[in-house]
Amino acid sequence: MPLHVSQHPLVAHKLAILRDKTTEPKKFRELVRELTWLLGYEAMADLATRPEPIETPLEPMTAARLEPRVGLIPILRAGLGMVDAMLELLPTAEVWHIGLYRDERTLKPVEYYNKLPDAATVQVCLVLDPMLATGGSAAATIDILKHWGAARVKQVSLIAAPEGVATLAGAHPDVDVHVAALDVRLNERGYIVPGLGDAGDRQFGTFAGPASEPGHGPDDETAEVVRRLQRDLEG
Ligand code: URA
Repeated sequence: MPLHVSQHPLVAHKLAILRDKTTEPKKFRELVRELTWLLGYEAMADLATRPEPIETPLEPMTAARLEPRVGLIPILRAGLGMVDAMLELLPTAEVWHIGLYRDERTLKPVEYYNKLPDAATVQVCLVLDPMLATGGSAAATIDILKHWGAARVKQVSLIAAPEGVATLAGAHPDVDVHVAALDVRLNERGYIVPGLGDAGDRQFGTFAGPASEPGHGPDDETAEVVRRLQRDLEG
């Protein structure tokens, strides 16, 4: 699975401010948007174009127009903050929402919202999630998109954990993953370290107290999933 870690200095600079714990939600949202432009620009660098005859004020010429129809699939809720930036790059993109939650018993992602029409209406899907952590939701979303008929899927995230990259590489080796940084590991609560904390809470200002903070009170099920992913990575 091709993993593309942006080498652009602007991306590194903006990511440093995003990670900083003193960055307030308003600034955090602006940075998510700016980083999404930069990563989106890189992620779409290989989209096909078709020749199209046009006339400039001076003379006719053959110009290039984007060939595939593109769909944006934000992973709820943190992926929502990446949609507007992508739509600014590509105003004709379609936005399709797929809602998944993790079943407490089976630990598998369960679909709770999916209004995709029967046949795919786009050829390329960009899955948007600021944090590629365990990779469970991303892999399940990509399963749905491939069954729907999407010819090509790319994942765009701000930060990835090695565990999430390994999950996607195992489940979907054909999917390109574009990130601003590949971090060190997941902690026992499934947060990316060093990461930036909870991308949803930091965008939407929903800080529910210590229980939502990385490193506080591990949830046994999450900890078990993380241990399994880490065993897979090592062995
Ligand atoms: N989701 C987040 O918001 N942050 C992480 O570190 C991992 C998952």
